Amino acid sequence: MKNSEYFFFYIRNSSKLTMFIEPGINSERKGWIEVICGSMFSGKTEELIRRLKRAKIANKRVEIFKPTIDVRYDEVNVVSHNANAIRSTPVPHSQNILLLAEGMEVVGIDEAQFLDSELPQVVETLAKKGIRVIIAGLDMDFEGKPFGPMPNLLAVADYITKVHAVCMQCGDIAHFSYRKTSDSTKVLLGEHDTYEPRCRNCFYKH
Ligand code: ZN
Repeated sequence: MKNSEYFFFYIRNSSKLTMFIEPGINSERKGWIEVICGSMFSGKTEELIRRLKRAKIANKRVEIFKPTIDVRYDEVNVVSHNANAIRSTPVPHSQNILLLAEGMEVVGIDEAQFLDSELPQVVETLAKKGIRVIIAGLDMDFEGKPFGPMPNLLAVADYITKVHAVCMQCGDIAHFSYRKTSDSTKVLLGEHDTYEPRCRNCFYKH
């Protein structure tokens, strides 16, 4: 394909490119899976909330879930670091989402890395039912290893957005979560005094 032909192809398919950012908000009922991933303080939850609020504006029936383990700020609300809150339902197991999502058009799941290994299957079932599923989660733990069900969610997702934080050491873009304490529990919920985002160089330097 010559360059000029390629450009034409690009223009003709531009509607599909914009769908990458917000897939068919008003198209026919057809399910899909979006994953928003990244390190701590990268704006994952803010992006999740932004998409869910837009779905509500579009009059979609929206339900938001988070693992019961994440009780940092509030039992019921998905709350991001900038306190931009939206109501959510805590669930102990991913299977609970199947029942609770009945009749919904859009399902949001925050802190998905803390949910169990059945989550990818659950979200596939929801997508097959015609539900738009938007998942936010840490893709790596503090050791730089894939976190919980996230790698499998990324594999089955239709759309993936990786958001970045700013490295607290050098100011570059960051996608690692560096833990500043020696506490060895993986499920340590994050605040600025415990974690800081770092780029790859700074993450492995210390
Ligand atoms: Zn750095």
